[in-house]
Amino acid sequence: MEDKISKLINEYKLYYCVECGKCVAGCPMNVIYDDFSYSFCSRGIIRKAMLEQDVVDGGDIWRCLNCNLCADVCPAGVSYAQFIADARNMAMAEGHTENAAYCECCGKYYLPMPTVDAYNHILDKNNRPDGYTKLCPSCKLASCAENMKLDAFRVGK
Ligand code: SF4
Ligand code: SF4
Repeated sequence: MEDKISKLINEYKLYYCVECGKCVAGCPMNVIYDDFSYSFCSRGIIRKAMLEQDVVDGGDIWRCLNCNLCADVCPAGVSYAQFIADARNMAMAEGHTENAAYCECCGKYYLPMPTVDAYNHILDKNNRPDGYTKLCPSCKLASCAENMKLDAFRVGK
């Protein structure tokens, strides 16, 4: 596992990080998670990975929203979102699936569970439709289209 993580560190240029903190300053995790902390922010994870600490086991790599905003501000060319995506795939392949959300319709992985929980928390305030966060984007689209068809049929009647 360490060898695989080292490969990702090289591939996504984590060793170029100069710890400027720009990626953390603009990161939306700050807004989404009430318990936002150094342990799961990009800088914290990069530091852990560089110190050869285990980043795959545990929930820290499952907090990033993969928005890639950090890449836009990073002066060092670090591709953090891609690193996280590959590290998650690696974690799932090793059987660490407890932080992954799988679509209730097609069964594919679609989001980290902490992100789903945060969305549910936010959407609850606005009367989230039933099951809205339980489907992957493709199945959600198909389900919406199906509902729209039914609605159109009802209107046509
Ligand atoms: S990709 Fe992850 S770490 Fe980077 S800005 Fe988005 S949420 Fe933050
Ligand atoms: S913006 Fe880039 S160089 Fe600065 S802390 Fe984040 S990853 Fe490191």
